Parts: sequence; C-alpha cells; structure tokens
Amino acid sequence: MNREKPVVIALGGNALLQRGQRGTFEEQYENVRRATKRVADLIEAGYSIAITHGNGPQVGATIIRHDAGARLAGIPAFPMHACGAETQGFIGYMIQQALQNELNGRNLRREVVTVLTRTLVSAEDPAFKKPTKPVGPFYTREQAAELAKSNPTFFFSEDAGRGWRRMVPSPEPKKILEADAIRSLVGAGYVVISAGGGGIPVTSDGSIVGVDAVIDKDLAAERLAALIGAGSLVILTDVDGVYLNYGTEKQRKLAQTSYGELKHHLELGQFSSGSMEPKVKAALRFIDDGGELSIIASLEDLLEAVAGNKGTRISR
Ligand code: ADP
Ligand code: MG
Repeated sequence: MNREKPVVIALGGNALLQRGQRGTFEEQYENVRRATKRVADLIEAGYSIAITHGNGPQVGATIIRHDAGARLAGIPAFPMHACGAETQGFIGYMIQQALQNELNGRNLRREVVTVLTRTLVSAEDPAFKKPTKPVGPFYTREQAAELAKSNPTFFFSEDAGRGWRRMVPSPEPKKILEADAIRSLVGAGYVVISAGGGGIPVTSDGSIVGVDAVIDKDLAAERLAALIGAGSLVILTDVDGVYLNYGTEKQRKLAQTSYGELKHHLELGQFSSGSMEPKVKAALRFIDDGGELSIIASLEDLLEAVAGNKGTRISR
C-alpha cells in the first residue's frame, strides 16, 4: 500500500446505530467512539485519511421530526435535501469529537474537520422517474393517500408488504462538488469527514439546487475516493468480507480477488441489491477510475485490512 496517497474510509450504518438500538444520541455517540478507535489505529500507523458515512436511519428520523413539528406545532417541515444537510452536521459532529479526543489521547497532533458536501446528480437520471428508495415511517394506505394529497410531489408505495412508505429517487452520484477543497485539506494533514449520507443531492443548470433524493453512500464514497486521488477505498460494514453463495451452506469468502473475477460474480447476481451489490459496484468502479485497491471489510479489521490481508481485497 502506498502511504503517500490518502485512504477513503466509508463507515457503514452499524458504526452509528446497531440493530435493536433506539437511536438515542448517547447510543450513537458510543458506537461512533468505538469506531473511531479503529480509525485512529490507521492514523497512528501513518496513513492519511478521509472519512465518509451513511445516514439512512438518521435521515429517516430527521424527516419524522420535521413532520411531527409541522403537525404538532405548525413549524414548517424542511425538504429532504435540507434534512440530509442536518444529518451531515450532527453525524460529522459526533465523529469529529470522538476521533479528535481519541487522537489527543494518543498524542497524535492531527486536526479533524467536517465538510458539508453536495453531490451532483443529473436531472435526467432515470431514477427520478422511478423512486425506489424507502425513507421515513410506515403508513396505512389511507394515511399515505392523505399525505400525497397535501404534498403533491411525494410518491408513496408499498414496502415489501410491511406498509406504505414514501419512496424517493436514488440517482447516480456524478461529482462531489467540494472534492478540491477536501483534497487540499487531506493533503495538508487534516482528517476530513465529508460526503455523509452520499452527499446532499443537487442538480445544476446554471445555478445549483437541492433535490429530494437519497444517494447511495458506497457509490458516493467511490466518487470521493476517485476525485481526491485516493490510493485505496475501504468500505467498512458488519460482515468480514464479500461472500459467494452468501447465507447458504456453500457460502465462501472472497479474500484476494481481481477486478475481472469480482465483476463476473456481480454479473451472475451473487450480491443483494440493497446491501452488498452497491459496495461491490463501488469497489469495481474505483479500480475502473484508476484506483489501486478496493477493500470491503468489517470495522474491527480496519488496520489489518489496509496493512495486512483481512477482508476482501480487490485489485486490478
Ligand atoms: P452498511 O450499513 O454497512 O451499508 P448493509 O446492510 O447495507 O450495511 O450491507 C451489509 C450486509 O450485506 C451484511 O450485513 C450482509 O448481511 C449483507 N450481504 C448481502 N449479500 C452479501 C454477500 N454476498 N456477502 C456478504 N454480505 C452480504
Ligand atoms: Mg448499505
């Protein structure tokens, strides 16, 4: 691994909130504190780092707070892109604070900053015609119809037989608008948290405007890694790598794999669309875009995945 080039680390949902937890600030901060110890190990080993993170459950909760505020107190609800911005703020705050404390405790003189980040998507993206990403609470059919009447731009659909939910488009990330600033900060030695929740989705035709959509965080992490010239992209999650025949008796972990081999398995449909597939796509795209190494690993194995051979390591 080339230590001159930065490592982009994408923190999965479980680094923030674990299954079964209610989502108090204290729970989330404690999870983040545990995750930042592993990140600090990598910094201590001499790597320069950019961090990104998901926001699925958090942006869902923020939207509910806005809806409840509107219903209970007449405080106008904000659009989804502004809710996304709110989550970048508080999640960035948690990571920044926990990681800075950890670095200070180890006498590592590195400053941690969070950059509010917008991700450019195309207004022509076919995802805008077919919203597929469920966000926020479950409703009955009647509640959904009522909400759709008062919010004509909202689209509701049944979510896997569990109830009705608002569906939003999940367009392809094209460009991280703050990439140059992030690259400069990382180059100057700052530990940068950016592109949280895939970045705030914006379109541009002359002026830039926020749009109601949710960008996949793994695909946005890839854009970030490519645009800041990272040496490796590390996607951290709650499994220790990419498996073939996952969840069956025949499951087998891919340790070291090539671009061609992994792409072959992707085309055969080995990876579930809502979870492992976007990670594999991001890993492959990074190599396509000139990256040296993509890694999919569990948070606990971060240092050994980057400096050793844990997780699934994908190279040309
Ligand atoms: P994150 O919040 O990190 O993005 P996801 O739940 O989206 O987490 O993705 C990780 C999950 O992907 C794992 O917990 C695992 O259950 C699931 N998964 C699906 N297919 C595979 C596979 N082929 N190999 C490994 N994990 C897989
Ligand atoms: Mg995911």
